[in-house]
Amino acid sequence: MKTINVSVVTPDGPVYESDVEMVSTKALSGELGILPGHIPMVAPLQVGVVRLKNGSQQDLVAVSGGFLEVRPDKVTILAQSAEKSSDIDAERALRAKERAEQRLREAQAANVDFKRAELALQRAINRLSIVEKRHF
Ligand code: ATP
Repeated sequence: MKTINVSVVTPDGPVYESDVEMVSTKALSGELGILPGHIPMVAPLQVGVVRLKNGSQQDLVAVSGGFLEVRPDKVTILAQSAEKSSDIDAERALRAKERAEQRLREAQAANVDFKRAELALQRAINRLSIVEKRHF
């Protein structure tokens, strides 16, 4: 099988790099599947999961939005934050989810930044969705 090189990079440094057969994730415009030789493109991403397939193996990386750049032999994902499945702290994500939910409940009463709380909730739910798929 042909492969394509994928890097996930954040301001703190590289998070993931591998040669894979397929990359799939959610762009703002909808689900994206990238195979080797894909036409060059740039797309903004949603808070979501990047799935990286290689044979029967699949790696999952949580990304908090950002951009995906495709060249024929390379995919680069630039994200504000990103974590490989094994690096996700489930307790931390659960606490972040509860905090964000509490802020959203208080949103009308106080001057809570609704959008910010909503995005924090999305990031936490996204991380937890990967934790649920971990193989023990
Ligand atoms: P928190 O409120 O727990 O910090 P957050 O969604 O606000 O969550 P981010 O701003 O997206 O966090 O990320 C800040 C840094 O912390 C990044 O380096 C990110 O990879 C890391 N990080 C955030 N949550 C987790 C988690 N549950 N497990 C591992 N790393 C995390």
